[in-house]
Amino acid sequence: MAEENKKLKIGWFSFSCSEDSTIVFTELMNEHWQEWKKMFDFRHVRVLKSKNIMDEFDIAFIEGAITSDKYAEQLKEIRQKSKKLVAVGACAVQGMPAGQRNFFDEKQKEEIEALIARFAALPKVLRVSEVVKVDAEVPGCPMDPNIFLKVVNELVAELKS
Ligand code: SF4
Repeated sequence: MAEENKKLKIGWFSFSCSEDSTIVFTELMNEHWQEWKKMFDFRHVRVLKSKNIMDEFDIAFIEGAITSDKYAEQLKEIRQKSKKLVAVGACAVQGMPAGQRNFFDEKQKEEIEALIARFAALPKVLRVSEVVKVDAEVPGCPMDPNIFLKVVNELVAELKS
């Protein structure tokens, strides 16, 4: 139990996106699982387990763009529970390509009005940093695995110091 307490608590959350960065993350597990299972407590990572704990995180990874007030509130709650928050993948970092509708012309906007209302969507799709403070970003569509590993190693060093 004492050893468990020393592990860094990890959360992985997906908002509006295709979840391909999650796939990259699970692929990285093939090489890093032995090392990561000793270092990390995967506290809220739905792709790895069905019973997840939403209490506090040393590092929360956020994938996808923010498309509704509900998602914005969930993201703020994660931020409040996390020491470090990392935006992963282009949709989270720059709001695209998930936010293509931000660039629709007037006619296209009219055509999707009913869908916006039906899903209680925000008028504009937001990148993560438009909603909460972001400590690090991993660009790429999907995320660049090398930058992800670099960011993870830097944050681990910082949090353990
Ligand atoms: S960044 Fe690309 S791969 Fe990742 S969720 Fe968005 S569209 Fe999919």
